[in-house]
Amino acid sequence: SKSFFMVAPHSRTISGNDKIFAVNNAAQAMAKKIGSNHVVNASIGALMDDEGNLSILSTVIDILRSLPSEEFAAYAPIAGLPSFLEAVKKAAFKEFVPKGYIEAVATPGGSGAIRHTIRNYSKEGDDILTSDWYWGPYHTIAEEHNRNLKTYTLFDKNDKFHLSSFTEKVNAILEKQRNLVILLNSPAHNPTGYSLSDEEWKNVIDVLKTAAKNKDKKIILFVDLAYIDFAGENSRSFMKYFNNLPENILIIIGFSMSKGYTLYGMRSGAMIGISSNEEVAKEFKQINSFSNRGVWSNGTRPAMVVLTKIFENKELLEKVEAERKKLHDMLNERANAFLEEAKRVGLKVCPYKAGFFITIPCDDPERVCEELTKDAVFAVPLKKGIRFAVCSVSKEKCSKAPEKFVKAIKAV
Ligand code: PLP
Repeated sequence: SKSFFMVAPHSRTISGNDKIFAVNNAAQAMAKKIGSNHVVNASIGALMDDEGNLSILSTVIDILRSLPSEEFAAYAPIAGLPSFLEAVKKAAFKEFVPKGYIEAVATPGGSGAIRHTIRNYSKEGDDILTSDWYWGPYHTIAEEHNRNLKTYTLFDKNDKFHLSSFTEKVNAILEKQRNLVILLNSPAHNPTGYSLSDEEWKNVIDVLKTAAKNKDKKIILFVDLAYIDFAGENSRSFMKYFNNLPENILIIIGFSMSKGYTLYGMRSGAMIGISSNEEVAKEFKQINSFSNRGVWSNGTRPAMVVLTKIFENKELLEKVEAERKKLHDMLNERANAFLEEAKRVGLKVCPYKAGFFITIPCDDPERVCEELTKDAVFAVPLKKGIRFAVCSVSKEKCSKAPEKFVKAIKAV
């Protein structure tokens, strides 16, 4: 009963069942009954082939398998293998290396980078800012550390980045606290698939520069690159706006090997700090390495060695990129199939540019999802809409889904 707690007071948050897990289970149960050909399981946030098997970059797995036993068994250094941290910078920036002092620390996936950013750059009770459409674990991680996740409206009435809502929230929070951590997932945002244009990026940075004129304020912009390698051409040009920023603005890049290298389960990623102040960059390295020691000690060594090897050998890198391009093309075809059909049947979707998900804004998402299951379509209800994982659904099924959405929305 609720009156009997073993846990300490701060851990008594009720977070409910994992929705995505529950939807996936329901889809699988239905597939057993009527056959998986007749079920659209759009719940899973991993790239899958048309038969529902995990898509894998075989070169990455081959490199992993070829490693000597010691590379599996040994610890990695607390901050990560130095050669890995060099590879991470190449993987994240490519030719768009920002001007400033740059330091990197290995973390278990992008999730670890989010955790350290929230823990080390805000204090208990602080507000953290993200957009109204966001990846659920942002809230979980904020809550885990006693921070409040606040949101601005992501899209304006023209389905562009809502700059005035963003500006208003940034200024309101800075009015009452010293540090502001902003979590911004672009390009290929989860769940909407939105990517900010370069102009929108410039505007975002200008808002932060204006706010940073008050030197008592510290602004930390966490840029979540989880899906960048599936975001298409020119997906890194926005990084030019990170050059020579005021020293009270710190950019933290969240890098993940989960999607771009199909190593979801290896828990490998990094956080990269970019500052115009050398001391801020040094502090970033020290403080986040200290947190590594205090939370998970060190990261997954074989995954670090894999990335190192890929970026030390041009041929391997080209092989990985060619394999990834095939997956990327498959993803694009599916998304286009969904979007074309959505347009034809008049289904409103959030402005999608790239990535694993398309989101359908609607009232009462839970009930619409229930209706959809009658047509054997399984998608994830969010607060203000439904997330459809094009990453895990065949092109053929993607093109049939929008009509079912229209029907379900009408029925509710
Ligand atoms: N950020 C976003 C928006 C994500 O969707 C994910 C994974 O689903 C991550 C970060 C982090 O993933 P990982 O911790 O596996 O690197």
